Amino acid sequence: MKQKSIRRPQSKRRKSKKSNNHFSIHYGPLKAKLMAIIMLTTSIALLLACFAFVVYDLNVLPDMQTIELEVLARITGANCVPDLHFNDRDAAKRTLEWLKTNQHIISATVYNLEQDIFAEYHKEDWNKSISSALVPQKNGVKFRNNEVIIHQSIMDSSNEEVGAIVLTADLKEMYSHVNQYILIAACVLAASLLVALLLSSKLQRVISDPIVDLTKTAQIVSSEKNYEIRAKRKKKKLSGKDELDVLIDGFNGMLDQIQARDAELLKGQVELEQRVRLRTNDLEQEIIERKRAEESLKQARDAALEASRVKSEFLANVSHEIRTPMNGIIGMTELALDTKLTEDQHEYLQTVKASADSLLSVINDILDFSKIEAGKLSFDFTDFNLRDTIGDMMSSLAYRSHEKGLELASHILPDVPDALVGDPSRLRQVIVNLVGNSIKFTDEGEIVVRVMKENVTKDGVAIHFSISDTGIGIAPEKQRQIFEAFTQVDGSATRNYGGTGLGLTISSQLVSYMGGRIWVESKKGKGSTFHFTANFGLQDDQSIEPMQHDPGILNGLPVLVVDDNATNRRILHELLRNWNMKPRLADSSEAALQELTQANAKGKPFVLMLLDLQMPVVDGFGLMEKINAIPECGEMKVILLSSSVAQGIPEKCRQLEINDHLTKPVKQSDLLNSIFNVLLDNKLADSEESVIAGMEAAANLQGSRISRRVLLVEDNEINQKLAVRFLEKQGHDVQVAKNGKVALDILENATFDVVLMDLQMPVMGGFDATKQIRKRDSERGTYTPIVAMTAHAMAGDKERCLRAGMDGYLSKPIQSAELFKTVESFGPAPDRSGPLSSDSIVSRPEDSGSHMVFNKQKLLSLVDNDEELLMQIVDVFLTEYPGMIAEIRKALEEGDNEKLEHAAHSLKGSVGNFAAGNAVTVAQKLENLGRENKLERARQVLEKLEEELDNLKRELRTITK
Ligand code: ADP
Repeated sequence: MKQKSIRRPQSKRRKSKKSNNHFSIHYGPLKAKLMAIIMLTTSIALLLACFAFVVYDLNVLPDMQTIELEVLARITGANCVPDLHFNDRDAAKRTLEWLKTNQHIISATVYNLEQDIFAEYHKEDWNKSISSALVPQKNGVKFRNNEVIIHQSIMDSSNEEVGAIVLTADLKEMYSHVNQYILIAACVLAASLLVALLLSSKLQRVISDPIVDLTKTAQIVSSEKNYEIRAKRKKKKLSGKDELDVLIDGFNGMLDQIQARDAELLKGQVELEQRVRLRTNDLEQEIIERKRAEESLKQARDAALEASRVKSEFLANVSHEIRTPMNGIIGMTELALDTKLTEDQHEYLQTVKASADSLLSVINDILDFSKIEAGKLSFDFTDFNLRDTIGDMMSSLAYRSHEKGLELASHILPDVPDALVGDPSRLRQVIVNLVGNSIKFTDEGEIVVRVMKENVTKDGVAIHFSISDTGIGIAPEKQRQIFEAFTQVDGSATRNYGGTGLGLTISSQLVSYMGGRIWVESKKGKGSTFHFTANFGLQDDQSIEPMQHDPGILNGLPVLVVDDNATNRRILHELLRNWNMKPRLADSSEAALQELTQANAKGKPFVLMLLDLQMPVVDGFGLMEKINAIPECGEMKVILLSSSVAQGIPEKCRQLEINDHLTKPVKQSDLLNSIFNVLLDNKLADSEESVIAGMEAAANLQGSRISRRVLLVEDNEINQKLAVRFLEKQGHDVQVAKNGKVALDILENATFDVVLMDLQMPVMGGFDATKQIRKRDSERGTYTPIVAMTAHAMAGDKERCLRAGMDGYLSKPIQSAELFKTVESFGPAPDRSGPLSSDSIVSRPEDSGSHMVFNKQKLLSLVDNDEELLMQIVDVFLTEYPGMIAEIRKALEEGDNEKLEHAAHSLKGSVGNFAAGNAVTVAQKLENLGRENKLERARQVLEKLEEELDNLKRELRTITK
């Protein structure tokens, strides 16, 4: 029956055998469960019936027996009434005899009213002791030891008691009845259960078989995923459709649905495949079209790149073309300004220079703007010193501001970190532009650059710069516009102020590249304050402070600051306080005189005075004249702070015994150096440390003046002349090569401290020449420093030069300061050194051969004509050299040739600083004798050296007088 219910194809049947094994269908439990349920139910029902039956019998049987015995006792008693009346015991006995017929009666005893036994009956096996013990007093029934005892009064017809009867019957029979019942019940139970088992095993199939069939079908469906199979219903049914049929129908219905869905899915799949095929075709078509479009886009991009490259090249060329003649104009004007000129000529040339400068700045603005437009603005991140950078740029702006009679000051708060990482030239560009605008739009008053720390960021520090002026101000409605390109407040044709309107646009771009923002606060006619913020990295070493000297020297020193400008006074006050000095402020010469008189009266005279030159009523020089007449102020050192435009200041300073002169705005480090230097004069004798510091300061100042041998590779004649003049003026030794090829020839036989290399040259350009030089260097194991010098100002040029193996980059027009800084950053070549090197001085014919005591002119040029500085180093030398002689003498006395060599070498270095040829030669001789251990000869030479040093001392004294 089971097998037939499943309809499936032949091939699948074989498969299903396997899967039967695999799935091991168990359909026993359901049958077993059904049978167990039936059996359990039947057993419990039967057991309950039997139990009820037995319990009933056990309860009812004793009662029935008792009633039977009571009736028997009453009848027997009634029969004995006449016997009792007539006291006929025999008759009574006979009456009792008929009880024999009832085998349950064990004994019967009749008592008279006196309770004497009247007659008795006993079964043969009667146990007397028990019966006698059971004589009851009252009517009733008692059960004991499988016996029942009935006590019954005998009443006559007039219902008077005439005696009593006691019947004893046994219950054995009754119990055997009960046992029989139980046995029968057990047999019936067993037989019933057997029948129930047989029946249930047959009947449970009615339920279990369809379920098992259904299960098997479901398993086959699930294992074979064959949804064609159906579960079959049983054929005939008397009672119509039952739940199983519903289940089977439901299952089959479900399979129908699955099959229908499968069919739908298949249809969907086929449709989908069809659509995918179609879409793929479309996509392929699209890809082909897109590739075509890409190709044309690429071509367009290439064309655009080419156009951009051409534009950049054009820009570079224009820049080059404009910068080269500008270079000539600016450079030559600078040189011409240094020559002897009439006042008119000087003025004309100044105007040429100023015009050229502003033309260059316009060109730079336009170039920068086009670079910003092209997204090519480059940033060059380096370590830099904020205070120096700002100080330098303020110096460069000082001329323009002082020319207009404006005070220019910078105020950097002490908590602003100094050692930063960023692009100082871009920062400079923004500040120079803002300060330049302030100068342009301010006719009187002051311009102050303030620098504050905004906040410390996770990558460094954000710094807030503000540039305030007391100029024309900007109307509120114009304040936003001015940051847009080509926008000016005064756009009319008759503008009072020049400009392209690009400066602020470029500045705001640069500021946003530096991660900051720019804004303006201004009131028309009241001046403007431009603010901007910028982010910088912090150098690892933040110890670079303006305080380079021993601060102990300055501790608590009373200083008088005389300046009519309140901002300047405030800035100086703060600076001096930071250096632990005790500043007092005076806003006029009159106030200064009062301060001086008071201090002198207290016996605490000022040690130092910082004196502004330009002041109303009595100016700085006027005040100085008055001070010089006060004897108590004789010891006071004076540093003059002036604007650069005033003529003849150094001369006047000398006349008025002013110790130093600084141009405003003063760089913090310059002011500190100056203070230190003027004070050092006094302190030399007291402090050994100060002497060393002074020597170091002097050495620092001179270090940059050591002559370099420079090979200038440049085709442009004006540029050649300019660079040569600049470098020679600075004391450097320059040789010119007009192209790369010539440079290679020169380098074949000579070495240079640095090669300045133009890039665009005929015959051989700078890149090719660099390549050749580097190749030769690697063959010979030498190294030639090369610095590119080019009018190329496009982004990436510097990187290109460095990639080509160059060591530095200078852009044209040549800025003299930058040129010197770069050239002097390269040390003298190993096989030859500058004239100040003690080792080479003897070999230089102009020093050793001239036999002059010392070359004052050369010495002055080496200290940049700074006579003050010269005097300081002379002072240091004069103090120091007797100790050195003593050291040499001691070495000779001890016979220590190494010590002698060492001491002579040191002395040679010191006298070398004064280009003192004779003394250097003798010191060198002494050093050689020390090395050769010729001490006797050294003693004679020492005398000669002392002689030479005496001469030198005399000569030096004359210049310090
Ligand atoms: P420009 O080269 O014309 O100075 P900028 O972009 O630097 O171009 O400045 C745009 C305009 O903003 C200036 O023309 C001027 O009108 C106004 N401006 C800029 N700075 C100041 C200032 N410090 N005081 C007054 N006006 C200013």
